[in-house]
Amino acid sequence: VDANAAIFVGNVSSKTMSQTRNAKSALDAGWGLLKAMLSYKCNHAGVVFEEVNEAFTPQRCSCCGNIPASSPKGMGALGMREWVCDQCGSVHDRDVNAARNILALGHGRLAGGMPVL
Ligand SMILES: [Zn+2]
Repeated sequence: VDANAAIFVGNVSSKTMSQTRNAKSALDAGWGLLKAMLSYKCNHAGVVFEEVNEAFTPQRCSCCGNIPASSPKGMGALGMREWVCDQCGSVHDRDVNAARNILALGHGRLAGGMPVL
């Protein structure tokens, strides 16, 4: 919060996640609590805090914007930590790529007033 003017997070629902095989990860991470605390701290510090629809952010290539056949798809691909975009050849760390897409969505919302869902 001190080092950034805006923080964007995906709208992953810890409640929904807790009903899947990834329940332990979602609950261990305390995702709902983290978001609540971030929101509170950002509000207090005058930092923009926004949730964006994170659908397809792990699959979309943050370089070319395509959703290539080579990108990780579904819960079964959670172990796929790195992938290569077969459209533009970019090599992605799964989490960094998703974070870049979430950041781009956040910037888009600030610029265009894009709705959350
Ligand atoms: Zn690409």
